[in-house]
Amino acid sequence: MATTSFSKKPLALETGEPAVTPPPAGPEATFAKRPKLGSTKSKKREIPEGLWAKCPKCSTMIFDKELDANLKVCGKCGHHFPIGARERINGLVETCSFEEMDAELTSVDALKFTAVSAYADKLQEYQKKTKLKDAVITGIGRIDGFRVGLGVMDFDFLGGSMGSVVGEKLTRLIEAATEKALPLIIISTSGGARMYEGMFSLMQMAKTCGALAYYARQRLPYLSVLTNPTYAGVMASFASVGDLILAEPEALIGFAGPRVIKDTTQAELPPSFQTAEFLMAHGLIDAILPRKEMKEQLGYYLEFLTERMKKSSASA
Ligand SMILES: [Zn+2]
Repeated sequence: MATTSFSKKPLALETGEPAVTPPPAGPEATFAKRPKLGSTKSKKREIPEGLWAKCPKCSTMIFDKELDANLKVCGKCGHHFPIGARERINGLVETCSFEEMDAELTSVDALKFTAVSAYADKLQEYQKKTKLKDAVITGIGRIDGFRVGLGVMDFDFLGGSMGSVVGEKLTRLIEAATEKALPLIIISTSGGARMYEGMFSLMQMAKTCGALAYYARQRLPYLSVLTNPTYAGVMASFASVGDLILAEPEALIGFAGPRVIKDTTQAELPPSFQTAEFLMAHGLIDAILPRKEMKEQLGYYLEFLTERMKKSSASA
């Protein structure tokens, strides 16, 4: 028995070099090894899925609970995993301070859209899957001592697409913040307008920006936070008109995707094109906020901006 276990390694190497330990006694020795190899493999398969996540950047295996406790940020390399709207709100606002608005608002299938599947079915499917009514949660909460109007988008709901509900909820939030004279924070993630609602989706771009124009007249601060990914109709409307435009590290941000731009312009795109870091170097983004520092940094900006607000209204 001792000879069979010692002879494993030289056999596996399959080099021409003479083995230090004597070669295997016969075919029985190789047969004896196989079940051992097989058993280790089946042990690996036994680990239930969903308990561990592999970091796409540094390939570290991270225990799910550890990832949740770390706001879905890899502890080794700082990679930001996607995070749901509710989780993000929980990590950002003071306990029990968030009063959600328009929680029951849902889309209607105005166009009777049927392509691959009916829009009404799609809505139901995603409502069930995400436990959200649509792709944004809005409300008023307290961050670092400041009462703010807060809107947080969720990419898991139909790619964070903006339909009439997302537009309407954000508009109502902006109007409430205007009325109550509160700072406004919108955290975006979106693939763009919701195709199932056609023109109704595109109208939300003008509607949200119209409400923001009224908000700006009150000299109230609007902080737009862009997270991975923020594209198209959302980026071309409310997400890009913040008094401060902030982003999470390595978030992809743009209007059209890089492939479309490359095909249209027939030009090579620079490395790290459309990343938050690239856009900060080119002046679109004011600061990059790692998720774990976001609460503290937003508090800092709010303090700075509301102090300025007080001073400017006093001098006016
Ligand atoms: Zn990592």
